[in-house]
Amino acid sequence: MGSYFEVRMIPQLQPNEIELIDWADEFAQQVLAPNAQQWDEEAHFPPEVFEQLCQRGLAAMLLPSDNGGADLSYVASVQIFERLVRGDLGVPFALLLQNNTLRSIWLHGTSEQKERWVPRLVDGSLIGAYVITEPDAGSDAGSMKSTAVSLAGDQWKLNGQKWLLSNSPVADLFVTSVVTQLENGEAGGISTFVLERDMAGLHVGQASETLGARSLPVGDLHFEDLTVDDGHRLGEIGSGMRMALDAVNFARVVWGGIAVGIAEAALEEIIEFLKEREQFGRAIADFQAVQFQLADLACKIEAVRSLTYRAAAAIDLGSRYIELGAMCKKMAGEMVVEVTSACHELLGGRGYLVPHSLERRMRDARLALVADGTTNIQRLVIARSLVGRR
Ligand SMILES: Cc1cc2nc3c(=O)[nH]c(=O)nc-3n(C[C@H](O)[C@H](O)[C@H](O)COP(=O)(O)OP(=O)(O)OC[C@H]3O[C@@H](n4cnc5c(N)ncnc54)[C@H](O)[C@@H]3O)c2cc1C
Repeated sequence: MGSYFEVRMIPQLQPNEIELIDWADEFAQQVLAPNAQQWDEEAHFPPEVFEQLCQRGLAAMLLPSDNGGADLSYVASVQIFERLVRGDLGVPFALLLQNNTLRSIWLHGTSEQKERWVPRLVDGSLIGAYVITEPDAGSDAGSMKSTAVSLAGDQWKLNGQKWLLSNSPVADLFVTSVVTQLENGEAGGISTFVLERDMAGLHVGQASETLGARSLPVGDLHFEDLTVDDGHRLGEIGSGMRMALDAVNFARVVWGGIAVGIAEAALEEIIEFLKEREQFGRAIADFQAVQFQLADLACKIEAVRSLTYRAAAAIDLGSRYIELGAMCKKMAGEMVVEVTSACHELLGGRGYLVPHSLERRMRDARLALVADGTTNIQRLVIARSLVGRR
């Protein structure tokens, strides 16, 4: 493992990776971007578009191709997200959750579990959700209260409540963390179960109204004496927190790509506008004060891109990446909120009239401050590593 300072090289992309990144770019331009505004206004999740992405192997970016995956490096995967979110945030974010769900089953499932669920997650005929957060356990996920109690005959009974769950309103499969041995604490007391939508005792809530990424369905779950057999338990008993953190740590690096994609699209859009819009007898883009502002924003985007590719390379090289991932998520969130907000301001009064794509991107960007750990939680991860204390 070693120190995260060791990662100095970013591996080259393979030809199949470049081809898929270009495909994602085109898909964003031709399918996502033309519909993004309407999906935002109607809070609509388009299942057929999601399925198209899955059919191209993008639900299983890291899986080997003989299992239906895209066989991508992590460096390539973040670039796929970078391109897709230029069109829309919600649908690619739903895809990230699909990848997380699938990856957990792939890494920790029995051969029977893999056979049962992986192919249908790969082709998008099943939609996955990753279920950790509860109303009283967010940043402190280890304090979750939902339980699974062991019953006679290899059965478990689940009770509890989860919320703020991406994909949940439309999901078929829920990779869910619950407490199995309270006495073991968060390190060894949480286990993971795969729940299926039609199980008796599983109540799936309606989609909640959200600020941004509105094509992403987000909702809650209740378990009420939900009985499952042991074949629905994923991985070792007590390994649930490690599994959940692994998924979250992985996603934090993807957030770098997401932030770069949204910010770069916003910057390009405002530059086009500023070249056209004239005040004081000249294009606003001709004022050096504005040019300097744009230059500063471009530098911030590039800095996050470099950090993101380096963090992704750390994963590909099998090096330690937890701190780099947290740095990536922190810088990504701050950067994308700053860039989209500055671009929106440069629209002048037009930006206050809705709908406008830059207003949408500004709302979307704020998800980067919250999902997969808030900015303060990233600081906590980095600081604990620096100071060596919990
Ligand atoms: C659109 C959306 C999609 C989501 N998708 C999923 C999903 O698919 N699955 C899932 O399980 N969860 C999901 N989440 C939940 C998300 O992971 C949590 O919202 C996040 O971890 C923060 O938890 P919280 O909302 O309870 O905030 P809290 O933990 O209550 O935090 C509130 C504030 O306090 C700060 N804070 C908390 N603790 C500390 C501390 N020790 N030091 C300093 N500051 C602190 C936080 O930074 C934050 O600003 C999603 C959330 C959103 C908004």
